[in-house]
Amino acid sequence: MSDSNKLSLSSKIFIGLLCGIFAGWLLAQMGESAFVDTILGALAVIKSLFVNALKMMVVPLVLVSLICGTASLSDPKQLGSIGGKSLLLYLCTTAIAISMSLFFANLVNPGAGVVSSGAEFSGASPQPLSQVLGGLVAANPIQAMASGNMLQVIVFAILMGLAMSAAGESGQRVASFFNDLNNVILKLVTLIMNLAPMGVFAIMTLVIHDLGLQAITNLATYFVLMVVLLLGHMSITYSLLVAMAGLNPKTLLLKMRPAMLFAFSTSSSAATLPVTMEVARKRLGIGRSTASFCLPLGATVNMDGTAIMQGLATVFIANMAGVDLHFSQYLTIILMSTLASIGTAAVPAAGLVTLTMVLTQVNLPTEAIGMLLGVDRLLDMVRTTVNVTGDVAVSSVVAKMNGDLDRTIYDDPNAGLDFENDKFQSIKPV
Ligand code: ASP
Repeated sequence: MSDSNKLSLSSKIFIGLLCGIFAGWLLAQMGESAFVDTILGALAVIKSLFVNALKMMVVPLVLVSLICGTASLSDPKQLGSIGGKSLLLYLCTTAIAISMSLFFANLVNPGAGVVSSGAEFSGASPQPLSQVLGGLVAANPIQAMASGNMLQVIVFAILMGLAMSAAGESGQRVASFFNDLNNVILKLVTLIMNLAPMGVFAIMTLVIHDLGLQAITNLATYFVLMVVLLLGHMSITYSLLVAMAGLNPKTLLLKMRPAMLFAFSTSSSAATLPVTMEVARKRLGIGRSTASFCLPLGATVNMDGTAIMQGLATVFIANMAGVDLHFSQYLTIILMSTLASIGTAAVPAAGLVTLTMVLTQVNLPTEAIGMLLGVDRLLDMVRTTVNVTGDVAVSSVVAKMNGDLDRTIYDDPNAGLDFENDKFQSIKPV
C-alpha cells in the first residue's frame, strides 16, 4: 500500500464528516445565492448516488448471505443438538438486545424535536402486523425481491438454504455457487464503502446546512447512548448468560481481548473469525465440534450489536421525522431487527444496509440513514466487538451444556497464551 493510501477508511470517513460539518456551516453563513444552490445541488446528487448504492445492495446481500448461513447447517444428525441450542441462545440474546435498545431509546428519546429532511416520507400509514405475518411467504419470490419485500426474501432464503443442505451433492454444488456469489457481493459492498468519505461529506454538508448544529447535538446523544447500550449488553447480558452456565464471566471477557481488538479494528465479524476460533479453542477450551459449528454460524446470524443499533436508529429516525410509533410497530421493529441482524453480512457497515428494511417495514424514510453515516463507522467498530463477544459467550455455554468444554483450559489464566504471540501477526483483515 502506498503512503498516500495509508489513511484508513474510518479516518477518511471521519475527515469527511468533519469537513462536511464545516462546509455545511460555511454554506449556511453564505446565505442564499446561485453559487450556494449549485453546490448544494451537486452534493444532493452525490448523496443520492451513495445512498442508492447502499440500497442497491439490500436484496442481494440479505438473500445470498442468509442462504449461505442456512445452507451451512449441514449434517443435522451430528449437529442437531449444538445447532438447536446455539440458535435458541443466539435468538434469545438478540431479543434481549433489541428489547433493551428500544426500552432505553424510548427513555432517552434521541432525535426528538428535530425535523428531518426525510420527514416527507412518513405519510404512509403503517402496515398492520397481522398483514405482515400473513404475507410471510411470497407467492412469487422474484416479485418479492423486485419490490424489496424483505420478510418474504428472508423466508425464501431460509427455505432455499435448508433445501440445499438437505439435497445432498446437488445442494452442495448450488451452495458452493452461492458462497462464491457471497464473496463477490461482499467485495461490492467494500467497493461502495470506499465512496463513503465523499458520501458522508455530501450528507453532512446538506444536513448541517439544513438543520444547523442541533443535528450534531442529537447525533451526540445517539452516539453516546449507543455506546452505553452496546457496552452494557456486552458486559451485563453476556456475563449473566455465562454465569448461569456456571462459568466465570470475567475469565471469558478477559481472554476474549485479542478477538475483541481485532473485531474493533476490522469492523468485520467474518474477518475476525480466525482469531475468534483460536481464542475459543486455545484460550477458553471450547471443543472443536462446538467451536467450528457455533462460531461461523454466530458470525453469520448472531449480531446483537447490530440489532441494538437498528432498534435505537429506528426510534431516532422516527423522532427526527416526528413520527409516533405504535405498539404494533414496536413489535414489527423487534421482529424485523432480529431478522435483519440475522441477514446482515459480517462485514463493515452491513448493518446499516439492512437497517433500510426495518425502516421500510414501519414506513420511515430510509434517506434518514444518511444522518447516521457520519458516526456509524465508529459505532460499527463497537457493535462488531459486541457481535463477536456474543458468538463466543453462546459457544462457551453450548460447549458447557454438551460436555464439550475443557474446564482446565477455561480456568487457567495462562492457557493458550502463546498463540497470541505466534499467530496474531499473520492474520490479515479482509
Ligand atoms: N460490521 C458488523 C459485523 O461484522 C455488521 C454490521 O454492520 O452491523 O459484525
